[in-house]
Amino acid sequence: MTEATYDLDQTHDPELRSWVEAANDKNGDFPIQNLPVAVFRRAGSDEQFRAGIAIGDSLIDLSASCLSPHLNEPGLAAINLVSSSSLNEFMAAGRRAQRALRRNLSRILQHDFPQRKRVAGALIGLREVEFKMPARIGDFSDFYCSIHHATNVGKLFRPENPILPNYRWLPVGYQGRTSSILLSEQPVVRPRGQILTPGSADPIYSDCRRLDYEAELGVFVGAGNTLGTPIPIDRVEDHLFGVCLLNDWSARDIQSWEYQPLGPFLAKSFATSISPWVVSFDALDPYRRPHRRPDGDPASLPHLTSSNDATRGAIDIKVSIHLLSAAMRARGLPPARLSLSNYADAYWTIAQVVAHQTSNGCNLQPGDLLGTGTISGPAPESRGCLLELSEGGSSPVSLPSGETRIFLEDGDTVIMSAWCEAEGRGRIGFGECRTTVSKAV
Ligand code: MN
Repeated sequence: MTEATYDLDQTHDPELRSWVEAANDKNGDFPIQNLPVAVFRRAGSDEQFRAGIAIGDSLIDLSASCLSPHLNEPGLAAINLVSSSSLNEFMAAGRRAQRALRRNLSRILQHDFPQRKRVAGALIGLREVEFKMPARIGDFSDFYCSIHHATNVGKLFRPENPILPNYRWLPVGYQGRTSSILLSEQPVVRPRGQILTPGSADPIYSDCRRLDYEAELGVFVGAGNTLGTPIPIDRVEDHLFGVCLLNDWSARDIQSWEYQPLGPFLAKSFATSISPWVVSFDALDPYRRPHRRPDGDPASLPHLTSSNDATRGAIDIKVSIHLLSAAMRARGLPPARLSLSNYADAYWTIAQVVAHQTSNGCNLQPGDLLGTGTISGPAPESRGCLLELSEGGSSPVSLPSGETRIFLEDGDTVIMSAWCEAEGRGRIGFGECRTTVSKAV
């Protein structure tokens, strides 16, 4: 497979405008240059779920029959793959199908498209819809790509030696669970588990007292690889479908008791939340950056090294966390920002992650989900979880309501958002992943 060319094309032109007026808002998430995909139906209906592409304050229903007369042959082939209620088949078809659909929709949605009145019937307002998981997720792996996060967390446990020797050689990860992946708006229930309370030698079974979020991005795999056949680093992008928001809920007290020697287990498996919209790697192309290791770090091994990845492996995606407590909600206060970080600060690129994960011959499949790990930066305000922000619980975070937080309380809503912006390139966004904590049952 050699279809990926990585070139910017007419769909990236920052001057493009849409006949969907809201898509021309310079601060919106869904301009015509973005075109993320989700699976939806009209809220409260018993309609079939189907795929839609966001444009401004609406989406375009890809199952609408008024679209097909205006698509070219590759566009028709691609849209036929997305008519089912999950995107796995479309994901399996690879970057070529994805790009064909993007080019067709970009043309149809442009302000001067002559038959715009004929396709306007496919538009549905975003306020009128509900979402479903974009894919049947077969496997979920979560990584640890931010050295700033790894250092901040490592310092809490090992002040002398925060970064373990393997960190600079391989992207550390673990296999997560798919059964408890939730969509934005689904509440997360505070877990119960074994906790070692301070000063006690024996654990108790109790409600989690140190519930945390982790600001991450999720990457959906597109075309898979055959078992036994690693994906070379320079071919990884042929196998990627897109990026969503991912909140990796973490029970820090359960985690600190259970994690040695095999890593996280019940501290993570109770919930992981994702956003409904998946932004394609094509849409992210204008926001690529060179990826560099800090001076003095060892060069990565050859199978994790590529000049192409060094040139463009980082992606400038700003990731924001806001918190809205029950008291703030009651007083009509707006959500308060807790952190703003950037995926471009990651130590490991997505190409390195996938090259590593398949380097033993492990097969990835369409719809598999990979988490980047908590995205933190060098600055204190770029710490992507409360464990870091509160320095292990010793430094409470203040909220505008006068409340403080070390970890999350019942009724807290955690709101993740992310966007890309670049000089002369405009802005694209990821929508939201919004989750409220409910009490343990
Ligand atoms: Mn994580």
